[in-house]
Amino acid sequence: MARRDIAGRGIRDEAVLRAMRTVPRERFVPDEMVELAYEDHPLPIAEGQTISQPYIVALMASAAELGPGDRVLEVGTGSGYGAAILGCVAGEVWTIERHEQLALGARNVLGDLGLDRVHVVVGDGTLGHAEAAPFDAIVVTAGAPTVPAALLGQLADGGRLVIPVGQAPWGQELLRIRRRGDRLVEDRLGGVRFVPLIGAQGSDVDDES
Ligand code: SAH
Repeated sequence: MARRDIAGRGIRDEAVLRAMRTVPRERFVPDEMVELAYEDHPLPIAEGQTISQPYIVALMASAAELGPGDRVLEVGTGSGYGAAILGCVAGEVWTIERHEQLALGARNVLGDLGLDRVHVVVGDGTLGHAEAAPFDAIVVTAGAPTVPAALLGQLADGGRLVIPVGQAPWGQELLRIRRRGDRLVEDRLGGVRFVPLIGAQGSDVDDES
């Protein structure tokens, strides 16, 4: 899969490609879907959420331009798969999930795989994680209606925020926002489709209890 669907579609970051070859995606999908784990598709997980498509995980990780010592925040742990990829490429990763059950499941799998520099936090990631800020990169894996100000505030100088942004229910545009001192420089990386980012600086809770 790494060769056909990831390198074959233009991902050049060697550390990301190595991570995609190393992390066993089948550990992050529900038992009944294990045989689909190496297809390049999103899959349903608990709480009505999804594990992202591998190509998109690789695209976001390479867009974040990670170095081996980087401190990274991921918003939207879900299965924990994306956090595992970030953890293989960067120095230390904090990943935040609003559903406690998903966070606990991800923490177990990441622990079993020995990824002890990935820390799973339960909470509202639209507020970031001030205790560990500033971050060299922030990767948001849910669709935001607008860019949460708290995340921009927790970005180090030179840091990159990779985030799907859009008001339309059917999709978002993937943005990379780089901090250069007081300036923010934005690149548009194409159309993507994520579940909604729900929280104080995200969407209202509408479809869940
Ligand atoms: N990176 C994940 C993809 C998860 S889908 C993976 O590799 O499996 C997006 C996740 O974002 C969902 O689990 C959803 O519950 C979570 N989410 C949505 N809004 C959030 C918020 N404000 N804070 C933290 N997590 C949030």
